[in-house]
Amino acid sequence: LLNVRKTYRTKGRPEVHAVRGFDLRVRGGELVGLLGPSGCGKSTTLRMIAGLEEVTGGDILVAGRSMVGLPPQRRNIGVAFENYALYPPLTVEENIAFGLRARGKRDRKARVADVAGRIGLTDILQARPAGLSSGQKQRVALARAVARQPEVLLLDEPLSHLDAAQRDTTRRELRHLQQELGYTTILVTHDQEEALSLADRVVVMNEGTVQQVGTPDEIYDDPANLFVAQFVGEPP
Ligand code: ATP
Ligand code: MG
Repeated sequence: LLNVRKTYRTKGRPEVHAVRGFDLRVRGGELVGLLGPSGCGKSTTLRMIAGLEEVTGGDILVAGRSMVGLPPQRRNIGVAFENYALYPPLTVEENIAFGLRARGKRDRKARVADVAGRIGLTDILQARPAGLSSGQKQRVALARAVARQPEVLLLDEPLSHLDAAQRDTTRRELRHLQQELGYTTILVTHDQEEALSLADRVVVMNEGTVQQVGTPDEIYDDPANLFVAQFVGEPP
């Protein structure tokens, strides 16, 4: 990501400089945690990478190729965002399988079963989204993003609706899947504990700017400024 910026312009309203120059180089296979308070620009950053929001300036490169101007479906990026976006008429199984590149029906079914098993969805594969809890919907969205085997995986608060026990197991499975399949992942959270325990590196944002990039240890032991120190120092 090179100096990526976003200014929201709504008629009759002041401009919102949501992201003011985001620079980050994510290595292949790395899990980056994007951490910061509400409204600091985390979701906007992910939406720009996914192509759901146009950039105001800067460039987004994946494996050297610029994504700017490409529609979301041509970016090979898997997303699981807060609002799930599941298809109501389809079963959980069909939702997870949706958009998987055709590689034979049997292959697809096996992949869905594998991912569903790891994320604890085996029992509800035939259910439809309307009958699910928000935690279940969230896990279906996560399974769908993972099953597509994208180059880049973007997760926006993927565990926020889970209870503590589910969050623990899902977090562990996510970590396994991520390592096994080598996804390059950016995970948004406002939970310090989650970012510091899960990520290889953490990006701390505030008011549209990057405050610090570093390993969890660096962020914790050597915060770049008062904001980072206070933010990661807060008890979860
Ligand atoms: P949260 O933790 O609450 O999800 P966030 O870090 O994801 O917060 P963003 O959703 O990226 O924050 O929002 C960053 C800023 O941009 C906020 O000031 C928000 O009000 C503003 N914003 C977000 N989306 C829009 C939009 N579509 N139009 C105008 N302003 C927006
Ligand atoms: Mg958000």
